[in-house]
Amino acid sequence: MHERGMLIVLSGPSGVGKGTVRQAMLNSGYRDFQYSVSMTTRNMRPGEVDGVDYYFRTKEQFEKEIADGGMLEYAQYVGNYYGTPLKYVNQTLDAGKDVLLEIEVNGAMQVRAKMPDAVFIFLTPPDLGELKHRLVGRGTDDTETIKKRVTKAAEELKMMTNYDYAVVNDEVPLAVERIEQIIKSEHLRVKRVFDHYTSMLADD
Ligand code: 5GP
Repeated sequence: MHERGMLIVLSGPSGVGKGTVRQAMLNSGYRDFQYSVSMTTRNMRPGEVDGVDYYFRTKEQFEKEIADGGMLEYAQYVGNYYGTPLKYVNQTLDAGKDVLLEIEVNGAMQVRAKMPDAVFIFLTPPDLGELKHRLVGRGTDDTETIKKRVTKAAEELKMMTNYDYAVVNDEVPLAVERIEQIIKSEHLRVKRVFDHYTSMLADD
């Protein structure tokens, strides 16, 4: 029998670049995992494909899925539902493959409660000064709004204590490299390999 796959949860504050890092991971040479396509009720953006970027569904369809127990986790974000279909995750893990989720922090905490064996990675902005710099550079917010956003970012950073790893997203390829290192190391954890060794001894 093969080992069950590992669930990898990539999360972090909004605007930190989770989507970009996830896409870079999918495009990288290291593709030893399956990406779990999320379900959402938000509108499709130009270039997005149903079933690839998201499963785009109506609010009614999404709520039925929740009622039927079909979601591993879900959250409302800026007026829309986002969630992870449970069936694909379980089937893929059972097939011995790792699964990557890219989700916001509330959803990540639900996964933590349900699947504590998963690996929780928190993506962080390089520093708050940099965040401030970016917001000012964008020129779309006034001083008061920028102050509020930086305060919110500081609060969001505290969420980090609920995770196993903090990965700084200073440069996307570097962030991807760090995440790959985490995945490889996690696979070597004694708690993950112990059964394999004991079954080897039992075979003798
Ligand atoms: P966007 O609309 O920009 O694609 O995503 C908005 C936010 O929803 C991002 O922070 C993204 O990580 C998060 N998100 C995407 N899929 C899921 C999901 O399945 N569950 C949860 N909880 N958040 C998700």
